[in-house]
Amino acid sequence: MKNNYTAVIQAGGKGTRLTPLTHDKIPKPMLLLNGKPMLQWQIDNLSRYGIKEFVIIIGHLGEKIKEHFEDGSRFGVHITYIEEKEPLGSAGSLFFLKNRIQDQPFLLIFGDVMFDLAWDRMIAFHESKDSTATLLVHPNSHPYDSDLILMDYEDHVIGMDSKTNIRKSWYDNCVNAGIYIISGSVLQKLNTPAKMDLEKDLLKPLMGKGHIYGYRTPEYVRDAGTVGRFQAVQKAQKDGVWSTKNLSNVQRCIFLDRDGTINRHKGLISKEEELELEPCAAEAIRLINESGYLAVVITNQSVVARGMCSIDDIERIHRKLAVLLGEQGAYLDDLAFCPHHPDKGYPEENPEYKMTCSCRKPGTGMLDGMIEKYNIDCSNSYMIGDSTIDIQTGINAGLHTILVHTGVAGTDAKYDVKAETEARDLLEAVKKIHGIS
Ligand SMILES: [Mg+2]
Ligand SMILES: [Zn+2]
Repeated sequence: MKNNYTAVIQAGGKGTRLTPLTHDKIPKPMLLLNGKPMLQWQIDNLSRYGIKEFVIIIGHLGEKIKEHFEDGSRFGVHITYIEEKEPLGSAGSLFFLKNRIQDQPFLLIFGDVMFDLAWDRMIAFHESKDSTATLLVHPNSHPYDSDLILMDYEDHVIGMDSKTNIRKSWYDNCVNAGIYIISGSVLQKLNTPAKMDLEKDLLKPLMGKGHIYGYRTPEYVRDAGTVGRFQAVQKAQKDGVWSTKNLSNVQRCIFLDRDGTINRHKGLISKEEELELEPCAAEAIRLINESGYLAVVITNQSVVARGMCSIDDIERIHRKLAVLLGEQGAYLDDLAFCPHHPDKGYPEENPEYKMTCSCRKPGTGMLDGMIEKYNIDCSNSYMIGDSTIDIQTGINAGLHTILVHTGVAGTDAKYDVKAETEARDLLEAVKKIHGIS
């Protein structure tokens, strides 16, 4: 499965914050993580997906990297080096790539980011969008103090929101991971090897023009640039978390209904003010996040078809949901909503969304999309909801089902179905899945 992508690894950083471990005798990328240099973990993961051509940007103590990896043949890859005589920022040395890469796409990776990724999926995404630059993004448990990426519903990156900004509106939990696929055409604008910042100088001018995309994945990607983070990353590798989350391996997922399950039942919700969490919701979702299951919301929002609000309003409500959960250290891996409704003939309706669709629960359209996207094994996954519609949806998709007694608590009686398990609320449902009582 060889491909034409060159991986460029920015390994020139000084790694000052890791000095207690490196003693300034070895460069940060050579730091042994469970017996193997960090850089080698990166190369091995990429090589498994057919990426064999590497350019490593070296600086401080870079000769030690060269001594270990040489031309890469010992590791089944081909490596060349760019030596940074003085630090040129995150993008300055890309100038030296210009003639090697021409207009071929390349991967850009920072030396202190550890990951285990199914690269074939990110590359397929980049190619299907005909993207100029694709940023790997993911949710985390502390979005309130993270640099965030702003995206629209078509995955375009439309801006960046620095952690130092005062955030006055709801924001999505979407964090820049420091992993990129970039078209070589971007480099052709570089005329001299000057100090440059990748995001500010190279990517920001392209944002909002439909050329830059965010690729959202729940796979393992962490910055290991401080002693504390390095140790956590090392533990996660030892515990098998890295490889378990790689999307080449089947995933387990807990699908969640929204209204009456995560947030308080208030009938149809069309305004952000109406969204209020069930008291246990953040704790329950945090438990899912920590367990290694994916947390994915599947919700019918016929409020759009009924003309009660727009798609933008729904997205704002979902950003509020992300913020309320994020404030308590919880996040959703993904969310899908159906804006449609089948019954026509109401004066205020939005005809564009009045249709019979396959996504509206108990149809499995939304689930099918997620199952494909995240390689989900239904026989080890769950649907949790407060209505018989949710239970019927779970049964239709071959999932285990849990009915919660919040919201309508099954009293809708639209379908004559019985859940495998019942629980007081979302927290009790998640605890039952994990055998915690
Ligand atoms: Mg519900
Ligand atoms: Zn639909």
